[in-house]
Amino acid sequence: MKDFEFTKCAVCGADDTDKICERGQFGLPTHLVLCKNCGLGYLNPRWTKERYIHFYTKEYDKYYRPEVYKTEQGLGKINYYLPVYERLTNFGTDTGKIKRVLDIGSGDGNNLNYLMQQIPNAKYYAIEPSEQCRNTLSSMGVNILGTDVDINFHKDYKGAFDLIIMRHVLEHFSNPVDTMQKVRHILKDDGIAYIAVPNNLKFGNGKLLDNWFRVVHTYYFTTHSLQNVFNLAGIEALSMQEGDDYNQRELFAIVRKGEVKDAVYNNEFYKQQKTLFDNKLKGERAIVPRLKRVLKRALGK
Ligand SMILES: [Zn+2]
Repeated sequence: MKDFEFTKCAVCGADDTDKICERGQFGLPTHLVLCKNCGLGYLNPRWTKERYIHFYTKEYDKYYRPEVYKTEQGLGKINYYLPVYERLTNFGTDTGKIKRVLDIGSGDGNNLNYLMQQIPNAKYYAIEPSEQCRNTLSSMGVNILGTDVDINFHKDYKGAFDLIIMRHVLEHFSNPVDTMQKVRHILKDDGIAYIAVPNNLKFGNGKLLDNWFRVVHTYYFTTHSLQNVFNLAGIEALSMQEGDDYNQRELFAIVRKGEVKDAVYNNEFYKQQKTLFDNKLKGERAIVPRLKRVLKRALGK
């Protein structure tokens, strides 16, 4: 299969999975599997690194940021950073002490703009693959640290950051444990990171096959699997919450440097996730919704 590669479970290293689906949002190839050993959801096979880089640099905006793609301005309307800032202050973070902020996966810059207004004295850094978005960020005075977390962006920044933001990005990466180890490396000893991902135990009533399962989401986390990633990377969760008034389907955590620990393997994690997905997919795979989906794709909607 051209453009595809096989991978083992990033948490436990096993290669023993159940297949959940083969296609996801936009009808793109989304081979979601669940690790029977630890319950982690991930794509296997998945696109190669080269194919993903091409997608993120050239195609992502077309699918996910139509405003950026159309106007080349990149100014959307929703302030996604409102919940980031609110959640940090609700947690009791002293934002006055924050001097250096790294935003991993900044997008079009509209979001970071909000945070820059709230914490005006900090220096801002970003990692962002989209060329168009990087231009917008640079024009705002954001320092671009790199285009991709898989490069060694962290080497020169040991202990450099008070706050690292990873808003809906960890589920996109090649290896979340590797990425969190780099995050640990660049965090100050008293620094914190904010991490938000889709919660695969609370996906709500929306369609899994048409929306939730995505070729760009290489990982599908729950509280258990996210905690395992933190353990292996030496990250300590100060708080981990499943949803709030901003978003009920989100899992978000505020973390700091901690000790490396073993992951916890429990077959119940796998069973719980499998049952939830199976029950939801039974309805979506019934004949009428299936025909609707085929028709929608054929009409290019
Ligand atoms: Zn596993």
